[in-house]
Amino acid sequence: MGTTTEGIRHVRNLIGGTWRPAVSGLTISRENPADTDQTVATCPASAAEDVAEAIAAAKAAAPGWAATDVRERIGIIGRALDILGERAAELATADVLESGKTLAECEGEIARALAATGYQLEIAPGLLYGERSLPSGLDVEMTRSPVGVAALITPWNYPFSAVIRKSVPALVAGNTVVVKPSELTPVTAEITGAALTEAGLPPGVFNLVYGTGQDAGAPLVDDPVPGAISFTGSTRVGLAVARDTGGRDVKVQVEMGGKNPLVILADADLDRAIDAAVSASYTAAGQWCIATSRIIVEEPVFEEFRDRFVARTRQVRVGDGLSEGTDMGPVSSKVQYDKVLSYLRPDTLTGTVLVGGGAHTGEDVANGYYIQPTVVERPDPASALVQEEVFGPVVSLLCATGLDDAIRLANDTSYGLCAAVFTRDTDRARRFAAAVDAGRVGINMPTSVGDHHVPGGGRKNSGRGEYEGAEDGIVFFTHLKPVFIPR
Ligand code: NAD
Repeated sequence: MGTTTEGIRHVRNLIGGTWRPAVSGLTISRENPADTDQTVATCPASAAEDVAEAIAAAKAAAPGWAATDVRERIGIIGRALDILGERAAELATADVLESGKTLAECEGEIARALAATGYQLEIAPGLLYGERSLPSGLDVEMTRSPVGVAALITPWNYPFSAVIRKSVPALVAGNTVVVKPSELTPVTAEITGAALTEAGLPPGVFNLVYGTGQDAGAPLVDDPVPGAISFTGSTRVGLAVARDTGGRDVKVQVEMGGKNPLVILADADLDRAIDAAVSASYTAAGQWCIATSRIIVEEPVFEEFRDRFVARTRQVRVGDGLSEGTDMGPVSSKVQYDKVLSYLRPDTLTGTVLVGGGAHTGEDVANGYYIQPTVVERPDPASALVQEEVFGPVVSLLCATGLDDAIRLANDTSYGLCAAVFTRDTDRARRFAAAVDAGRVGINMPTSVGDHHVPGGGRKNSGRGEYEGAEDGIVFFTHLKPVFIPR
């Protein structure tokens, strides 16, 4: 593991069971997004040679891990999840410091990720092997063999969750992994590597290589060894990964951005709809793929919804994620801060800013990347604000003349991750669910609804390949090989 000096965690790569710096010796510093005067961590600025070493270690360890009985694999990974559960408070604090989210959000992230991966350990044996007798008189053993080495590339917004939710299904299926976490959030990944090591995972089965996307991510994607690549991140990079691997003998799963619509029909329970809108719009300062970023309200209740939603938005308390009473932390980085504010520039903004509209300032937040929770009424549906993933606490409020118009507006972006509708009319809800282009739909639930017993993914520019999570999340990291035997 790395070292800590003056509160700064110096994280290392984990390659073949050894914690080590980048071959170049170079490092990347991570500032606290809530207080940019504070350095939280440094991590190796790895490059192609570090990635090659990690791939070699994973390749060498692959046959042994694949041959390890699945029960033994589950025992080791389960012990690691227990260790991570015991270290949950430390993980949550590290998560706040590196991602900027609030402590409650980070605690929730960790608990949900441990529950989801624990569930995958339960279902793995039944998925990886099964026997059937066929009407033809044959018996068949349905075996699912590992792909070998899996390359896992993760974003900064849910750093612990993203790493563990890819690693556990890959590992339990018998693969070895090379993980390239976001260079902005190195610490929770290091704790995950330490827990797996302490639990008895053999050297080389779980490898961590830190670095930028260009220097460490791209060589990992280009490497011919991995049999599977699972990427979560922006649509720009995700589409490039899908394109660049096309035609190669590698399974590719790409989870990308969203521009998720919440539709409020005239007969909706507005109390519940407003709760759902506030929570899904401002959690993680809007930096989660399942955030509500467009709210489409049917005309008869537009004004009432608007006024009540704006009043609730004014109550969102912005501050340091570690401070008591904070509802919403800063955005994660200077890049993100500038990007979100660029959508609110008066020279390009269309519509009316009802609340917020810029940086959140004040003595206690002077050194952080704080942005006001913002609602923009009736922006141009063709504008960048409505069409692109802002990934910040900025909501576009649109008015629909009826259900068909709401569906049209909901589908009018290149994304298709998730959607939600509020109505008391079951038929109208079902019509919306059937017509909306989304990987998942909530009825009288927020766009962020989900359950770890169910896989998740996106359509259009939100996803490519098999879904993550639950059964599909394990199946992705395998090849089906039916073995036929005469009865
Ligand atoms: P990003 O695309 O910038 O980076 C994601 C990861 O890819 C990082 O580890 C980065 O270093 C790496 N990377 C960057 N360029 C690369 C390249 N050329 N080759 C290989 N790897 C490269 O995304 P981000 O800003 O870290 O994350 C935010 C995005 O993630 C948002 O768009 C969000 O919607 C998306 N996201 C999606 C889901 C989902 O399940 N659909 C979940 C969380 C986040």
